[in-house]
Amino acid sequence: MYCPVCGEKLALCVHDQEGLVPFCKHCEQFRFPQFATAVSMVVTNRSKDKILLAKHIGQDDFILFAGYVKKGETAEKTVTREFREETKLNVVKYKYMSSRYHEPHNVLMLNFLVIAENGEISLDKNELESAVWFDFDKALQAVRKDSDAEAFLKNAINELKKQ
Ligand SMILES: [Zn+2]
Repeated sequence: MYCPVCGEKLALCVHDQEGLVPFCKHCEQFRFPQFATAVSMVVTNRSKDKILLAKHIGQDDFILFAGYVKKGETAEKTVTREFREETKLNVVKYKYMSSRYHEPHNVLMLNFLVIAENGEISLDKNELESAVWFDFDKALQAVRKDSDAEAFLKNAINELKKQ
């Protein structure tokens, strides 16, 4: 780990409240680790009995709709913006569920349960190959085992079954 300001190698030092934190001896500043933030969406229909999953071009597994939070934007805004960009449908309602840190992409994923308006999906074909409405059980089978998507999906389905 290197200082993002001066490039000096960082050493872990004790911070009063936060425990061991990377520290730049040259700048004499703590440098808290940086990571990206993204939203992940479990998308359901108005009758809350189907889940909409997407598939990237050339991939086998279905995935949850997702997108990076732009600098200065709220995560709530990202949910409505990204879903509209990818499907041309509006978000009717959303609810924050839980988060997970995804190590390979150094990103904190904030998961939302999203209700989409009824209507025809017009996919952003630069990114996505298809989007399919699944029954709950089929949706769980369509995502990769032991993935963040599976964990978020299980959590959301439990919530939907309670309603
Ligand atoms: Zn520095």
